[in-house]
Amino acid sequence: MIVQKFGGTSVGSAGPIARLAEIVRAHRDRSPVVVVSAVGGVTNKLFALANQALAGSDTRAEFAALAAQHQTILKELGLPEATIARELGELERLVSGIGLIRELTPRTMDQLASFGERLSVRIVAAHLTQSGTPARAFEAHEVGLVTDGRFGGARPLPESEAAIRAALEGVRECPVITGYIGRDKQGNITTLGRGGSDYSAAIFGAALGAQEIQIWTDVDGVMSADPRIVPQARQVPMLSFAEAAELAFFGAKVLHPATMVPAIEKNIPIRVLNSFRPEHPGTGVVARLSEDQRALKSITSKDRIAVVSIVAAPMLNQYGFLERIADVFARHEIVVDMIATSEVSVALTTDASAKLEPVVEELSRFSEARVLRELAMISIVGEELQSSLRVPARVFARLEALKVRVEMISYGATRNNLCFLVPRERLREVVLELHRELFEA
Ligand code: ADP
Ligand code: ASP
Ligand code: MG
Repeated sequence: MIVQKFGGTSVGSAGPIARLAEIVRAHRDRSPVVVVSAVGGVTNKLFALANQALAGSDTRAEFAALAAQHQTILKELGLPEATIARELGELERLVSGIGLIRELTPRTMDQLASFGERLSVRIVAAHLTQSGTPARAFEAHEVGLVTDGRFGGARPLPESEAAIRAALEGVRECPVITGYIGRDKQGNITTLGRGGSDYSAAIFGAALGAQEIQIWTDVDGVMSADPRIVPQARQVPMLSFAEAAELAFFGAKVLHPATMVPAIEKNIPIRVLNSFRPEHPGTGVVARLSEDQRALKSITSKDRIAVVSIVAAPMLNQYGFLERIADVFARHEIVVDMIATSEVSVALTTDASAKLEPVVEELSRFSEARVLRELAMISIVGEELQSSLRVPARVFARLEALKVRVEMISYGATRNNLCFLVPRERLREVVLELHRELFEA
């Protein structure tokens, strides 16, 4: 069997949903399990609705627009409005509840955010059934996915694996499962973090021992750069798990960073495909590349990066210093991207800029800590970096020619990745120039 995940634009309106059904049908001999995201843009709208309700504003017009967006799709597909009546009713009550009590906990936010996927699975399953592929909508928890209780960034619990297998075993129809969401042991709805449907697909694929995890999106696979920054970006035919993980972690939105974790564990290949051009082979992501596939793959970037620089002269030459720093970041649940050290100082980067104040306060008890903001991180990814200095040499020659101030450099941890910081106002220009130098020459 295979898992097929369809992202927001692939379920964005009636046309794409009809195409989705054709894609599923074309693979029917491989028993697809379908995972879907919310209709494109809906999760953002749910976040906006939550904040509006919290602020005490009237949300009736926005709610009506959201309901109408889904009902238009149903109508265009010739499906009854009743398909999603229960979910819409529940959503409406939740929004007005937030407006009444004027409180929005992470738990309530996850519950609200879950409606995007809970609505879309109903529509997709109803359309599949109507068009000749008997299908059944499931919320992920109904088919075994149990997560921890970290709202907004939950992770599956180990018992999910057997539970998923057991739950789907007897299902004869094509399962259409919500991406992005799960439930904790207490039954609270959780989310896996923005863009988390890719991760959901990998979790189900790994649990079911799928032959392949297909990620259907709106581009021809992974590209040599974000096509919104570099219009002439090229399609990348093959990536290793390690390369894909680096790309995703360092900013390529096309895959959620955790997607590769279950795939690596069970060695299940991933394929990123274009639902608007299903005949295109897309990008394959596999455990090991052949020698001729070990090339330079892509440039990716993350905007709004902060550096925390920590100086502690008394710690000179003492062990345990790094551990103490790491402990502070861990307790505040801040993910660190990049680290550089010298004898008396350490610098760490993170995109969690907004959460740094208490961290700095705590670090200041045993060191001099300060934060540098307004930076962007650029990563150049590819296994070619393991074997040659051609790429770093060209990158730094270009940076010098552009007179760009480089804040921090990281190279060597996996040797699939060369990473550095530049002032954020120069991000676009540098990415375009390095793409030209490395991929267009
Ligand atoms: P989906 O809703 O299908 O999950 P996303 O918007 O999450 O789609 O991801 C696909 C988008 O990721 C593309 O439309 C593209 O704009 C963006 N993107 C950023 N970096 C890359 C890259 N290196 N390769 C391909 N797409 C990228
Ligand atoms: N709908 C969710 C989001 O917009 C999850 C996803 O699209 O993968 O973040
Ligand atoms: Mg996505």
